[in-house]
Amino acid sequence: MENNIPELFGSLVFSDKIMRDKLPHDMYKALRKTIDNNTHLELDVANAVAVAMKEWAVENGATHFTHWFQPMTGYTAEKHDSFICPVGGGEVIMEFSGKELVKGEPDASSFPSGGIRATFEARGYTAWDPTSPAFIKDKTLYIPTAFCSYSGEALDKKTPLLRSMDAISKEAVKILKLLGKEDVTNVLTTVGPEQEYFLIDKEDYKKRKDLIFTGRTLLGAPAPKGQEMDDHYFGNLRTRVADFMHDLDEELWKLGIPAKTKHNEVAPCQHELAPVFDTTNVAVDHNQLTMEVMKKVAERHGYMCLLHEKPFAGINGSGKHNNWSLTTNTGENLLNPGRTPAENTQFLIFLSAVIKAVDEYADLLRLSVASAGNDHRLGANEAPPAIISIFLGDELTGVIEAIEKDEYFGKVEKVKVDIGAKVLPHFMKDTTDRNRTSPFAFTGNKFEFRSLGSSVSIAGPNIMLNTSVAESLSEFYEKLKDVKPEDMDDAVHKLVKETIIKHKRVIFNGNGYAPEWVEEAEKRGLYNLKSTPDAMPAFIAEKNVKLFTKHNIYSETELHSRYEIRIENYTKTLHIEALTLKDMILKQFAPSVVAYTDDLTDSVLKKKQLGVEAGCDTQTDLIKKLSGYYDNMIKATAKLSEDTDKAESMELNIDQAKFYHDVVLADMEEIRKYADAAEPLLPEEYLPYPTYEQMLFYV
Ligand code: ADP
Ligand code: MG
Repeated sequence: MENNIPELFGSLVFSDKIMRDKLPHDMYKALRKTIDNNTHLELDVANAVAVAMKEWAVENGATHFTHWFQPMTGYTAEKHDSFICPVGGGEVIMEFSGKELVKGEPDASSFPSGGIRATFEARGYTAWDPTSPAFIKDKTLYIPTAFCSYSGEALDKKTPLLRSMDAISKEAVKILKLLGKEDVTNVLTTVGPEQEYFLIDKEDYKKRKDLIFTGRTLLGAPAPKGQEMDDHYFGNLRTRVADFMHDLDEELWKLGIPAKTKHNEVAPCQHELAPVFDTTNVAVDHNQLTMEVMKKVAERHGYMCLLHEKPFAGINGSGKHNNWSLTTNTGENLLNPGRTPAENTQFLIFLSAVIKAVDEYADLLRLSVASAGNDHRLGANEAPPAIISIFLGDELTGVIEAIEKDEYFGKVEKVKVDIGAKVLPHFMKDTTDRNRTSPFAFTGNKFEFRSLGSSVSIAGPNIMLNTSVAESLSEFYEKLKDVKPEDMDDAVHKLVKETIIKHKRVIFNGNGYAPEWVEEAEKRGLYNLKSTPDAMPAFIAEKNVKLFTKHNIYSETELHSRYEIRIENYTKTLHIEALTLKDMILKQFAPSVVAYTDDLTDSVLKKKQLGVEAGCDTQTDLIKKLSGYYDNMIKATAKLSEDTDKAESMELNIDQAKFYHDVVLADMEEIRKYADAAEPLLPEEYLPYPTYEQMLFYV
């Protein structure tokens, strides 16, 4: 088997190698030029590619093709067309044209547009993104595409992502030219997302309306055991889980997704998968695919894969770590500290660009990870806090402090100091520093943004990162562009120093879970956007509109549409949760409590008839206790019902989102308090659905 893996890898991908083999040489060269330099694609090239693609796809069993796109729902969308084309006489041939490859017109009026299509045009179109390879899944050729309105507004997550990659590339190349790097024409951002997930039995899942409708349990008392023994993290893989993971790896490898690491996570039934990093655009597509394939393969193994950020209360939820860096087309990682003073100069410029960006646009980074699901994690002691700060580690912090004080840096051990360096100190990278509580950590040659929820599309967070760092670089360029080459080192030193002094407040190496940090962060003037409704207005904040329009990432219209869509998504999510909880209480859980108290009451009455006193008092106490919980639960459900109606009747805006957060969510928690207190008092056969214990410890 093992020997086949190199052959298996990418076998369902229309790869560069296949293109080279299948396309006439001049066509291949023209396509490469389009991909590498982002130039216009001629129709004759598109036609040639379409022919080759169809031929390859049909050889590999495909009957259909689809433009695959990423609407603002955060999921992916597809509409399949078959290759068949009737040629008369009841016969068909398989056909696919360049026009069909490059442009599609899905009837997309049901995708959220946040008002864009109402204002402009009803229809949207999809356009081939040749920088992400096409692939075959379920006998269909998938063509990654961008999704836009006819007037050119982005209706998806890919378009702004590609724009942000362009923006950061352009700005980084300008800076590198000033530093004498003439050969760099393109800078790519790279991303490696670590994906967490839960696996539970499909049979259990099917019995829980909350999991089916909302992805998380809305009720459920803790099992006798949680994650306190730390016995699951990196623990042995059980055979059935190992089989699943093996199958998953193979499916991903076929799709060219370099799944690399897998292990058990902290919570019972929780696992993680990490691929080898790729360019951001491809990494985003691959992460979407990974989530889809995970779910599908899980079902094949009798599991359900839960990607919700907080499927179970009381144990860890799931996140996604977005490892991010910058690489030149010449293969150099710009966040690598490097060995020579010149490399360090370059590193420090890019490092300070990131520090500045995170400080100035922390609100956007926070916004990009905000969702109803992730609200259950951020700020709880399992995930980074809602406050965005940067962890640099001791050594790098030492370097930064030395620069700030105009000292050569040589105090921390293990550090090679190059006193001969003209201005900036020489240091070695140290990857041993780890601080799991930090939302944004430097990890040797990349930054790890750790606040992402497990189900989020990683497009959003990377758009924010790319754009805000592009802005730092653009401001740096303005300050350096007229400096003479012989003065460049001094000017860069001055700039790095100024930037550090101005933005060091965002650097924090301590414990992000500590309550003192919240106070300290407030003193430093950092954002603490606690919930999704708190974070959303950042979309339309003046400084952010300026940022996005300057770099052509989002127009003002596109920003407003996203703001609206996010509010709507949030309120709908909470609305569905509220209705589901009400349904489960009134139709399932409350009747169970009544049935049991009824039976207890019968039992007490019968005992009394027989003159048996033993047990009567304790049973009566239990009846009282359960009836008390029942009362409170039913009253709280009535209040939830009333508040949900009220919320629904409100106008769609930020106040509605706040009402759902402050009132409806609080009502739900109140109900849960009583229900979870009652649940452990009910015998198992009275319980209408599987408990935490059954779901988490019998898989
Ligand atoms: P850690 O142990 O810090 O989590 P790993 O080496 O396991 O680090 O990497 C975690 C993720 O970071 C992987 O997906 C890896 O491919 C990715 N990664 C490594 N280098 C880079 C880079 N230069 N740019 C983006 N992601 C990277
Ligand atoms: Mg990591």
